[in-house]
This record gives sequence, structure tokens and C-alpha cells, in this order.
Amino acid sequence: MRAWSVQRPGPVEGDPLRLVERPVPVPGADELLVRVRACGVCRTDLHVTEGDLPVHRTGVTPGHEVVGEVAGTGAGVADFAVGDRVGVAWLRRTDGECVYCRRGAENLCPYSEYTGWDADGGYAEYTTVPAAFAYRLPGALGDVALAPLLCAGIIGYRALRRASLPPGGRLGLYGFGGSAHLCAQVALAEGARVHVLTRGAEARRLAVEVGAASARDAYEPPPEPLDGAILFAPVGDLVPVALRALDRGGVLAVAGIHLSDVPALNYERELFYERELRSVTSNTRADGREFLALAERHGVHATTHAYPLSEAPWALRDLKAGRFDGAAVLVNDLS
Ligand SMILES: [Zn+2]
Ligand SMILES: [Zn+2]
Repeated sequence: MRAWSVQRPGPVEGDPLRLVERPVPVPGADELLVRVRACGVCRTDLHVTEGDLPVHRTGVTPGHEVVGEVAGTGAGVADFAVGDRVGVAWLRRTDGECVYCRRGAENLCPYSEYTGWDADGGYAEYTTVPAAFAYRLPGALGDVALAPLLCAGIIGYRALRRASLPPGGRLGLYGFGGSAHLCAQVALAEGARVHVLTRGAEARRLAVEVGAASARDAYEPPPEPLDGAILFAPVGDLVPVALRALDRGGVLAVAGIHLSDVPALNYERELFYERELRSVTSNTRADGREFLALAERHGVHATTHAYPLSEAPWALRDLKAGRFDGAAVLVNDLS
């Protein structure tokens, strides 16, 4: 098969990705062999390719928003059959035994492995996944529409749950990219009033189109106090701004992996009255299953931009340069 491989991490303009010939992988006893139909392009793929994330596997194939079909099963797999449509996401494996796994917080497992970083991912004709970490996919959505839901969608959904919004609550979204725009659709469908606070005029226009009650610059106060807020922009300066926008008892969840330094907080203005600041780390399989079910029920829709899999480096370059709206999705044209 052909697969994209990170030969030596570096700027995408310098061709760190090479299309190589490899044997089709053999699934382990508890794994599925998956023929890739489509694979979303996540910013993390760019970090793996450029070396912002340390190398975990030499020559790794990136990609962790895979929609494919089961092409083979390991000897110990009973609940999937050849031809089933499945999703492969970022969380690939946990130990299932540590204190975090046992209390239902497998997103915190120190022994977890990740698709497209610790193991080869979806920028290839085939990939593998432990059956226990594969998602069954809702039938109503097409391959390209589903792919971005598998990372951007699931993470946005966990952030929404971490913001502990009460029913009918007022939610603030700071930043409005792919993840926020999927999260907003779930929140709106569940009856929240959503206020978007973001710099880009185009993003604010999209927010109103999706159904936000207001869209303003990130440093402006929202039109009403917030019961919950999610910081999607990787900007620590916005933490006190968002905390001040919270009503008493409100929660601010920080969705990103990276955040610039948070300035000193003033306890009385920014935290007192039981306002809370929380981080969001990866996701559990339960988050993924809940989100995919809600996405189908509420018709959550990702804005996508398709590229042939044979042109994966161009999708990464365009992502880096901000040359498209919504999410890039690679469509397998290699097989
Ligand atoms: Zn991702
Ligand atoms: Zn664990």
C-alpha cells in the first residue's frame, strides 16, 4: 500500500512527508484492519509533521480522523465484521488498569497511545485500530462530513460538558474555529443561548449564521453574564476576560492543548462567587460515542474542504497558511 510518512519532522514547505510503499499492516489479535475512505486534517497532524510534538514513532503516518471500512479482523475480534464502517480517532489505547482508567477518566491515562503519533494513522490506504477503540458511525452522514467530527467534534463536545452549562444556560465561546463551530451546534440544539466572542469578522458572520445570539470581539463583554464559557483560542490573556464575563457560579473550560501564559488573576473580580477555571484533556470513548449520537440526532454539520489523499502535503500547507474555511478532509484516491 502507499502511505504518507514523516521522514524527518520540519516545516511542511520543506517536504517532511513522503509517500512510501509499505506492506498492508497486519492487525493484532484485538485489532481491525481498516481501509481508509476519508481522513480529516487536524492541526495536531501539522504539529506531528513539523516536529512541534516530539517523535514517538520514526516515519509515522499522521491522521486521526479516519472514516473507513473494516477490511480484516484479528483473531480475538467478535463485534466487527468485514465491510462495517468505522471511525478511528486520536485516543488509540489505554492500559485500562490505572487509577484514572478505573474511575472512568481514561482521558487522563498516563499509558495512553495516540493514533498518528504512537501508531500509524489515516494518511494511507490502510490503517489499524484496536477494536475496543473503534467507533461505529451514524449512517446518515457521509464519509467526508463525518471525518472532522472524530477529533474537532469530540473535543468540542468534551469542552462543552466540562463547562457544566445548566439547561437553557448562557454559553460564551471564545474563538470560533472548527471545534467551536461543532460545539455551538450541539449547545444550541440542547437549548443554550450562545454568544460568540472572536476576533475575525468572517467567523462572527458564520457564528450568527449557525444561530448564535450575538457575535462580538473577544475582548468585548458579552451582552449578558454567562453561565459557562469555553476558551478555544490559545490565548491566555483571554482567561481573565472570560472569567469576568461569567455570572456567579459560572465555569470557564479551556479547550486547547496549548495556551499562552495566563496573566495574574484578581481573586475578587475573576474567581470569587465560585467561578471556576478548568482545563480539558483529550477525551474518553464515552465522550466520543455520546457526541456521535448527538451529532446524528441534531444534524451537526461540519464545513469541509476535500483534498485527494495523494495531495496530503498541500492540505497541511493550506491549513498552516489559513487558506480555507472549515476542515480539510483527505479522500482516498490511492486505492
Ligand atoms: Zn485532532
Ligand atoms: Zn490507564
